[in-house]
Amino acid sequence: VNITYIPHVDEQNTVKGFFSLVSDISDRKAIERMKDEFISVVSHELRTPLTSLHSALKILVTGRLGTLSTDGQQMLEIADENTERLVRLVNNVLDLQRIESGNFKMEKQACNAADLMIQATEAMQPMAQQHGVTLVTQPVDIQIWADSDYIVQALTNLLSNAIKFSSPSRTVWLTIEFVQQSEVLFSLRDEGQGIPQSKLESIFERFQQVDSSDSRKKGGTGLGLAICRKIIEQHEGRIWAESTLGEGSTFCFTLPALHS
Ligand code: ADP
Repeated sequence: VNITYIPHVDEQNTVKGFFSLVSDISDRKAIERMKDEFISVVSHELRTPLTSLHSALKILVTGRLGTLSTDGQQMLEIADENTERLVRLVNNVLDLQRIESGNFKMEKQACNAADLMIQATEAMQPMAQQHGVTLVTQPVDIQIWADSDYIVQALTNLLSNAIKFSSPSRTVWLTIEFVQQSEVLFSLRDEGQGIPQSKLESIFERFQQVDSSDSRKKGGTGLGLAICRKIIEQHEGRIWAESTLGEGSTFCFTLPALHS
């Protein structure tokens, strides 16, 4: 049940008591559960055919099975790009669903934050090169208590955004440091387009993008930051963004330090 207290005041605005409104939200919870299950089942069922469609299109795009007219090739590339976006969307929905589900547990253990930074930067290096963006990391040996796969996933999501929203020849910095010896602060700074102050919090909500045409232009799904937030919250950490429009953005998150 959900209980809301409403103050009862007299003419002098003195609180005389409270009304309590007790509502049964079990139906609402059941509907939310059904909705989540529905999305999860549909996404799951879509993943297999989409993956095979994507593989087939990838082969056709290379021209190995024969060449098409210029227009035909262009159509094929559009189909390929959009299928890739759909695969990403379905995977993101499933990731979010998995992390949000009550029976899901992170496999936390002692790990070296520097190793996770290196893994994430290595994974994103090809994308950075493609965009002409330089990645700079300052790995420091700090032990943290975390699920390494999920932290690498959060870092790659943030790095992918930093690259996507930067112009060529810009730099992205990834650093870590202790905060009061009990927390480790990860910071990812870019020199990209920046984010308006009014959007700095909402972008962590599902499907929230500063520019809704970004999902088409930049291939985004609007789920990356929602996934990052869930991952960091599951580690009892905090995540936030700071930005100056036109100058760049810094995404920060904290994790509990293991030690010292
Ligand atoms: P998307 O798939 O669109 O990148 P995200 O949830 O990862 O979804 O990010 C949500 C939105 O936040 C993005 O569409 C973009 O508007 C904004 N954003 C995220 N990271 C950055 C960044 N480094 N620089 C500028 N804008 C960003």
